[in-house]
This record gives sequence, structure tokens and C-alpha cells, in this order.
Amino acid sequence: MAAHQEKKLAEERKHQNMQNGTKASQGQWGRAWEVDWFSLASILFLLMFAPLIVYYFIMSCDQYQCSLTDPLLDLLTGNKHLSDIWNRTPTLTYRAAGIYSLWVAFQVILYVSIPDFCHKFLPGYVGGVQEGAVTPAGVVNKYEINGLQAWIITHVLWFANASCFHFFSPTIIFDNWIPLLWCANILGYAVSTFAMIKGYFFPTNAKDCKFTGNFFYDYMMGIEFNPRIGKWFDFKLFFNGRPGIVAWTLINLSFAAKQQELYGEVTNSMILVNVLQGIYVLDFFWNEAWYLKTIDICHDHFGWYLGWGDCVWLPYLYTLQGLYLVYHPVQLCTSHVVGVLILGLLGYFIFRVTNHQKDLFRRTNGNCRIWGKKPEYIECSYVSVDGTKYYSKLMTSGFWGWARHFNYTGDLMGSLAYCLACGFEHILPYFYIIYMTILLTHRCIRDEHRCCSKYGKDWKRYTAAVPYRLLPGIF
Ligand code: NDP
Repeated sequence: MAAHQEKKLAEERKHQNMQNGTKASQGQWGRAWEVDWFSLASILFLLMFAPLIVYYFIMSCDQYQCSLTDPLLDLLTGNKHLSDIWNRTPTLTYRAAGIYSLWVAFQVILYVSIPDFCHKFLPGYVGGVQEGAVTPAGVVNKYEINGLQAWIITHVLWFANASCFHFFSPTIIFDNWIPLLWCANILGYAVSTFAMIKGYFFPTNAKDCKFTGNFFYDYMMGIEFNPRIGKWFDFKLFFNGRPGIVAWTLINLSFAAKQQELYGEVTNSMILVNVLQGIYVLDFFWNEAWYLKTIDICHDHFGWYLGWGDCVWLPYLYTLQGLYLVYHPVQLCTSHVVGVLILGLLGYFIFRVTNHQKDLFRRTNGNCRIWGKKPEYIECSYVSVDGTKYYSKLMTSGFWGWARHFNYTGDLMGSLAYCLACGFEHILPYFYIIYMTILLTHRCIRDEHRCCSKYGKDWKRYTAAVPYRLLPGIF
């Protein structure tokens, strides 16, 4: 079997590297071939605790008005037992299973059977069949970019139902929030397990599989690079975008509808959260072709981290602000609204412009203008597994000359704005900025480690030219 041969090859390569004293040489970039104890400990921690963390947050809102400390106090003082909390938690229902199955099936249909038409009439939008980056094995995958279309169709149907058809209440997501959590978990675990089995027995591209020999690491970080079913159903593009990000705005709308139902109005904080996160989501789909060039698609393998993360972590924890505002309908003063709006829009502007600069630079191979001038860059090269040498460029102009990941800085400013929109009464809505700071700092270090393996001394020349990671002069 191809995957088994590749696994053997990986073992030999690992052995050779150890003899040469090089852990990661050029031609072996991507996720690790070997697992250090820290990575293993982090992975075991996440596998055990990430589902509990999600449950804890959602349960705190459901049973404790979003207080994160009260459940702990109740347990520590013996006021309540774990079983009391668990017994009050809504269980999986047929209704939720039906809603969730229909939802995922609908997104699969939109993804695989309706080729993109948006690029035919929306000026500047890049959709339809697009190519991804070169994989470590030298493969270039094609993708059908039709996420914007899926998002528009889904939301048009949502609004048509809410205003005309009334087949279901717009509060349907909120009303089934915990039963839907069980469904999302089932899908998340099922797809990650399937991806693992597929990686072993029928990988889409055996040369792009990675086996560390550690079951937990492989399950978490994935074996296959770009698992697919058929020619077009790409796991990474589908799971991140569709059940995850299309759902984000629908979930927020459902929370706004619940506020309306409970209090007879939608607060300005809820509108702010819906608008700022809506811009972020729409931006993602408008730039879905660009997403093909991000770390998720270019470097991460598909395992539990992406599979379960896209099904559960993203829709449940990225929407905590809206959920919190259902329980605490905060009405902000005008200066607070303006401050949050400015921070959110400025963060979005930096995020978008920085990402756009890199995309433009890479698409035109440096033949473009950044801030009115020809961009400066560092020439670099790397080698794929089959020994082919490729050339690339690292830009040192525009925001990429300010810091090596200024796009993350913009993202963090936007994330902080969502949290600030919820006022200062509880810590729960601030989870997002804490999490994003950890995620993006870790991602930045992980990416730089990978780039260093990939580009070697060329990467060192780049870091000498642009010495800061996120904040010029500070970090
Ligand atoms: P980047 O878009 O920053 O991509 C990093 C890659 O870009 C590197 O691996 C390298 O790839 C290339 N690169 C690095 N420096 C340069 C340079 N100077 N010039 C040209 N190319 C360069 O990272 P991500 O994919 O992580 O993030 C994309 C966006 O998504 C970010 O704005 C981030 O904030 C956002 N994001 C949001 C998340 C969320 O949960 N909300 C999660 C993760 C990301 P190569 O090998 O091609 O050289």
C-alpha cells in the first residue's frame, strides 16, 4: 500500500536526518516528522481538555448566566456535584440531529454541485477553479472557489425564511445550541477519525502524507496534507469554510433574533458584534482564493486540529460574544460604540491590506506597486521532497517591512474590538482575544520555524531585514 511505503520511507528519512545531525533540512518543510515531548504534552492536553473547555463555556452561559467562576465555586463548596450540572445539560435530540444533518448536507451540495457564478458578474472577485500552492511533494491542487456563493445563498434563504416563509424560527440555532453541540462533536470526531484511516489506507496523495509514529500526534495534526474525496471535495477547504465560517454569521443572527424575542429590542452591542464579525466573514469568502495561500491550506495537514476545530471550536467559541449578549443585553454609550467601531475597522483595515500586499506581491511575482513603489524583497530558494529546486521571494516593503506578521496584529485589534463591545462585567466574552493572542503568537513562531527549515539562510537574511514579529520595536 502506497501509504505504508511512504511511512517506511519517512522512518528511513528520519533515521538519515538523525545521522546527519539535521532535524529539518530543506526539502522537508511542513508539519514535524518528529515529536518532541512538549508538542506531545500539548497535544494530549488539547485532546483531553479542548472538548471540556467548550462544554464549560457553553454550560456556564446556559446554567450560570455566563459566569465562569460560579460553576467552580458551586463545585468547590459542595453546593453542587458534577452530576447536578451534567443532569441539567440538554441532551442530543432528534430535532437537533435533523437540523444539523440538513445543514451539513446543504453545505456539501452547495460546495460540490454548484460551480461558482459570482466571479462572472462581481468585478474584482476571484472565484471558480483556482490553483493552490506547491505541496512538499510538488503537487499543485485545483480548488473550486464558490464559498461566497454558498454564503450568499445560505443567507438569502435565511432572511427569506425569517421575513416571508417562517418555516422555522430565526432563534432555532440558539434554541438548540447545546443539542447541536453534541452533533458538531460527533461530526468533528467522525471526520478526524475518517481522515486518519484514509491517510493510512487510501490517501489522496501518498507522498504528501506524514507519519511521526506517534498515534496521538498523527491523529491531532493529521497525516494527509490535502485529503479529498473525488476530484473536488477537499476536506480542508470545506470544513474550515462551510460548517465553520458560513455558520458564524448565521449563529450571530440567531443570537440577535433571540435578544429581540426576549427583550423586544436588539442592543447596539449585538449589532456591533454582528457587523464587525460579519465583515470578517464576508472578507474571508470574498478572498477565498487567497485563503488557498494561507498556512491552513499550504502547510497544515488535516487531522483533529482542523477537523474537530472547524466543527466545534470555531462555531462555538468564536461566537461567544453574541451568546453572552443574549444573557446580558448590554446597551453601550455612543463614545463606547464609536471607540469599538474605530478599533474594529482599523484592525480590519490593517489585516486586509497586509494580506492583500502579500497576495498581490506573490501573484505578480513582485511586479506590482506597494504604497506607490516597486516592492523590495529577498530572493530565496527551497527544495521539495523529490529534489526539485524552487525559487520564491520574501517581501520587505509595505506592512511586511514593519513586522513579519503585521496581518496578525490587525487581526488581534479586530478581535479585541469584538470583546470590548460586550462591556466589562464578565471575562467570558474576552476569551476570544486571549485565545487569539495565544493562537497567533504560537502560529507566528510555528510558521517562522517552518520558513526557517524551508528557506534556510535566506530566511535568516529576511529576519535580519525585518527584525520584529508582531509589533515594530517591541516583539
Ligand atoms: P500568512 O498569511 O502570514 O502566511 C504566512 C506565509 O506567508 C509564510 O509561511 C510564507 O509562506 C509567506 N511569507 C511570510 N513572509 C512573507 C513575506 N515577507 N513575503 C511574502 N511571503 C511571505 O499567515 P496565515 O496563513 O497564518 O494567516 C493568514 C491570515 O489569516 C492572517 O491575517 C491571520 O490573522 C488570519 N488567521 C485567522 C485565524 C482565525 O482563527 N481567525 C486563524 C489563522 C489565521 P511561503 O512558504 O509561501 O513563503
